Amino acid sequence: MSLKKTGNITNTLLFRLTVLYAGIFTLSTLLILILFYFKLHTVTMKDLDEEFLGEVDRYSTIMSEKGREGVKNEIAGQAEREDPEEEFSRLLTFQGEVLISTDISSWGAVEKSESLETLRSGDAPYVFQSRDAPDTDYRARVITAPIGPDVVVQIGETLEEAEDYLQVFLNWFLFLFFIMIVLSSLTGWFMARRALLDMEDVTETALEISKGDYDRRVQVKDRFNEIKRLGSTFNTMLDRIQSLLKSTREVNANIAHDLRSPLTRIRGIAEMSLMYDKSVEEYKGVAASTIEECDRLIEIVNTMLEITEAESGVSEPRIEVLDVTPLIREACDLFQPIASEKKIEIVESLPAELTFHGDRKKLQRIISNLLDNAIKYTPEGGAVSITAGTESNRINIAFEDTGIGIPDSDLPHIFERFYQGDKSRSLGGVGLGLSLVKAFTEAMKGTVSVFSTVHKGSRFVVTFPQ
Ligand code: ADP
Repeated sequence: MSLKKTGNITNTLLFRLTVLYAGIFTLSTLLILILFYFKLHTVTMKDLDEEFLGEVDRYSTIMSEKGREGVKNEIAGQAEREDPEEEFSRLLTFQGEVLISTDISSWGAVEKSESLETLRSGDAPYVFQSRDAPDTDYRARVITAPIGPDVVVQIGETLEEAEDYLQVFLNWFLFLFFIMIVLSSLTGWFMARRALLDMEDVTETALEISKGDYDRRVQVKDRFNEIKRLGSTFNTMLDRIQSLLKSTREVNANIAHDLRSPLTRIRGIAEMSLMYDKSVEEYKGVAASTIEECDRLIEIVNTMLEITEAESGVSEPRIEVLDVTPLIREACDLFQPIASEKKIEIVESLPAELTFHGDRKKLQRIISNLLDNAIKYTPEGGAVSITAGTESNRINIAFEDTGIGIPDSDLPHIFERFYQGDKSRSLGGVGLGLSLVKAFTEAMKGTVSVFSTVHKGSRFVVTFPQ
């Protein structure tokens, strides 16, 4: 998938991240280059001023060694060597009288009175001035400094060399700046694109799913932690949605299949009652059978709703502190009459107290369903035992019977909705009991396991965190 399909480019995250990255990078580079250039400028000018001062020192030495005449001779010699448009030198008195000068005609008016005034007042040992150089775009620098009693030297020089040197740097800096804009834009674009391509995977997968491909998953890449988390969270959400969809489909199929039989029976009863004339008593019997079938239907629908709610997390368990022992005893008392009828002995092996943080009603339903099955699938004269206890911070409740057992081929399916073993159909259940046990157990963060041998018996164990 390309990142182009997103309409107005300026509204894309890719564009904005690139601009932001390039902007920050370019501005920082610009700032560094400007600072560097100013530092270079200052250092160059300082070097130049030191050269001027060196020249003044040279004149001072000549002055002290050879006097005014020596300096005049030096300036006369300079006049022959120098290009008058590039530099000039002249000797002045403090009053401004020119004692000797090289050719300064091209320099126009060269200021002296203000500088001499400053020197006379003793405010500064020398005076620097900046001005335009003759006939060029360059700048020039002029120094006025005393070299002896009532003798002042004034030297001027164009900054051509220094300015050319700085211009070379400026050009390089501009070139570097341009390269930086291009490089930072490319890097920003590349980095943003790498991150967004992974995000694009998530969008792409969502799009495929919206078209009905629920098997698609995001490929979780290790590159960026945030996107890795987004991808795995998205996949977990998809797994959950898919399992919910699967169970909804199953429920629909089961409803269609398993509600048909009671409905058909109700219809049959009604049809029979229409076909022949019957006494009031017989009609009452028909009505009673209809109510019985309706109750069965209502029970199936209610149990299915309870399972679905527990599985989807709609009905959160109401956690309270429970003592499990009396709950098991109550259930055993309740089932005792049915067990006695089948001459089945119920053996309890329970601690005096067994504390558990869980939902009372859900736990009661789990116990009664497993006890009901144990008695239902155990032939006359058998035994059912219930053991409870704790082990490494978990509580275990085991239901063991000496019943018909469960064939290996049935074992993987017994917790599915409406699943019934071949031999069980005649015993009246509907195949929802173990689904309910599993859904309620898992809603309380527990597990349910089964061990069974055909003709010997079964053992169901539910385990919960205490
Ligand atoms: P049913 O309403 O058929 O009892 P359940 O969901 O409770 O539905 O159980 C599903 C199937 O598991 C039963 O039809 C039966 O074949 C098997 N089963 C459950 N408990 C036992 C048991 N204690 N002994 C043997 N088979 C069992």
